Amino acid sequence: MDKWTDKLRAGAARLMAGRYGADHLNLAIVVASLAVTLIGSLTGLRLLVIAADALLVLAFWRMLSRNREARMAENRAYLTKTYAVRKAVSEWGNRTKNRKQYHYYKCPKCRERLRVPRGVGSVTVTCRKCGEKFEKKA
Ligand SMILES: [Zn+2]
Repeated sequence: MDKWTDKLRAGAARLMAGRYGADHLNLAIVVASLAVTLIGSLTGLRLLVIAADALLVLAFWRMLSRNREARMAENRAYLTKTYAVRKAVSEWGNRTKNRKQYHYYKCPKCRERLRVPRGVGSVTVTCRKCGEKFEKKA
């Protein structure tokens, strides 16, 4: 005999069969929707709340879409366009996490970001990208 959870799972599987499902872009849309909802309720702007609902509908529509190729292309475009931002955010996160162990410097010549372990005293830093050498205290 089937448990109702099995029926639910089978039903969900049937619903999602051939559908696109979740991706990075959808996650971003859902997060954006939540942020817009928050701003909308803080400012009392109804238009923002409606916009947030529209974003959620868009996320569901993309998830249930059967046109996998088009959705994958959208996701790829999103990932390409946001690459620099996502990289900057994750590097900033790493620097924040490691700031007790490392000093971070930018190369005076090419602006490459370099790190030096804290507590080593005066060091000559050699840029790994352009080879520029400069003095720092770490
Ligand atoms: Zn350099």
